[in-house]
Amino acid sequence: MHEPRPGGVPGSCLCGAVRFEVDLPTLVCAHCHCAMCRKSHGAGYVTWFSVPRSQLRCLAGDDRLVRFASSDHGTRSFCGECGSSLFFETTRHPENLDVVLANMDAAIDRDPQIHAFFSDRAAWVQVEDSLPRLGGATGFEPLESPRDRATPTDSEAPPRLGEASGKGA
Ligand SMILES: [Zn+2]
Ligand SMILES: [Zn+2]
Repeated sequence: MHEPRPGGVPGSCLCGAVRFEVDLPTLVCAHCHCAMCRKSHGAGYVTWFSVPRSQLRCLAGDDRLVRFASSDHGTRSFCGECGSSLFFETTRHPENLDVVLANMDAAIDRDPQIHAFFSDRAAWVQVEDSLPRLGGATGFEPLESPRDRATPTDSEAPPRLGEASGKGA
């Protein structure tokens, strides 16, 4: 049995062949509604968090990871045994790595903060929370008027993203 190092949050794929550990703090946590995430995971949307690469350690199954170039800049890794989608890396931010929150076996240090690529969301996905919805060409532009249902009646101001905040919500 592996003893996690202090501060490291354990994660694993469905079959357990791939096991890893993430050191906190994380950088950001977001729901992604892009079509590639949907297909890659077979899900309505996917929740990711980002960390500097140096904060992820693969403990087992490094050789079971299969890498798939899903775009000209992005690579997705999944377990060759069970198919769990695990990591995303992009040459646009080579210093960071995105990790699928659902594969973590313990809590990280934050809740999801935004809906990204919300303009590309599946028609059958209903979002009821009050998190900021970002979309447009980059997937991260504030959406002035969500096509989704109106904000809840007792709408509270959505949380602001520190430096990431453009003109606010
Ligand atoms: Zn697996
Ligand atoms: Zn995505």
